[in-house]
Amino acid sequence: MRATFLGTGGSVPTKKRNLPSFAIRTNGGLVMFDCGEGTQRQFLIAKLGFNREMKILISHMHADHILGLPGLLHSMSFMGRSRGLEIYGPAGIADFVECTTETVRFRSLFPVRTIEARAGTVARTESYSIEAAWADHGVPCLSYALVENDKPGRFHPSKARKLGIQKGPLWKTLQMGKPVRVGRRRIDPSKVVGPPRKGLKITYAIDTRPCDRIVQLAMGSDLLVHDGMFASNAFDRAQEFGHSTAAEAATVAKRSRSKNLVLTHLSAIYADTKQLLVEAKKIFPKTSVAEDLKSLELP
Ligand SMILES: [Zn+2]
Ligand SMILES: [Zn+2]
Repeated sequence: MRATFLGTGGSVPTKKRNLPSFAIRTNGGLVMFDCGEGTQRQFLIAKLGFNREMKILISHMHADHILGLPGLLHSMSFMGRSRGLEIYGPAGIADFVECTTETVRFRSLFPVRTIEARAGTVARTESYSIEAAWADHGVPCLSYALVENDKPGRFHPSKARKLGIQKGPLWKTLQMGKPVRVGRRRIDPSKVVGPPRKGLKITYAIDTRPCDRIVQLAMGSDLLVHDGMFASNAFDRAQEFGHSTAAEAATVAKRSRSKNLVLTHLSAIYADTKQLLVEAKKIFPKTSVAEDLKSLELP
C-alpha cells in the first residue's frame, strides 16, 4: 500500500498546503479520502491514474473537503475515464454531486454512484473493507478506517519439495489453505505455509475533537491520520471549531494503540509546524506532520 497526502491544509489553502485529500493505492484500486479544491492537480502530479478502480470517501460537507469533486469528475471524464466511480459521504453528498453536474452542465462519460454513508461497515471488497464512525465536529462528519483483509501465510517451496509435492496445482491449493493428497498421504497446509499475515489498517479522522468513537475505530491501526490543526496554546480555538490540538491527536493515537500518527488539516497560522510536532511527540513519539505530495510506503 502506498499512501499519498494530496492536501494537508485546513479550512483555507496556503502556498505550501492544498486543501485536504489523502489517497491510498491498494491491490484492489485507489481509495481517496476527501477532495478539497485543487485536488485534481495534486492527483495528476502524484500520478495516481485517472482510470483506476476507485472509491472516494468524503468526511463531511464542509467546503474545504468537497469543492474539488466537480473538477476532478470533469477532468476524469475529459481524460476518457470509463470505469465507474463510487463516492461515499454523509447525507447531502448525493445532492451535491447531482446539483453540480447539472448546473455546471457537465455530463460524466463514466458512471458515478453516490452512497450516503453512516457509522459501521461502509464498503467491502475482495481485498479490504471500509469502516466508519461519527466524528465530533458539530456537523455530521465521518472518520473512516481502511482495513485490509488478512493475507495467506508465506508458502515455503523447499518444504513442499521435501514432502514430495512438485510445483503445480497442488502448491496453489496449499497456498489457499486447503489440504492436498499425495499418494496415500494427506498434507495439511500448515506443513508448508506460514501463519496468516495480518492486513494493514489505516484510519483517517479529520475535522474532529478527540473522541472515544475514533479511538475504537482506530484501534490497532498501522497508520492513524488525525486532525492536528492547532498547538496546545490554541486549545480554545480547537474546541470552538471542532478540531484537535496536536497533543490531543497524539492521545488518540496512544489510546488506540496505533503504530504511527500523521497530523494533518494544519492551520494556516503555522508556517512552521515544529511546535505541533514537539507537543505531539511528547505523548506519542511516532508522530510526523503531513506534507503535500509526500507518500508513505506501508509494507
Ligand atoms: Zn476542514
Ligand atoms: Zn469541517
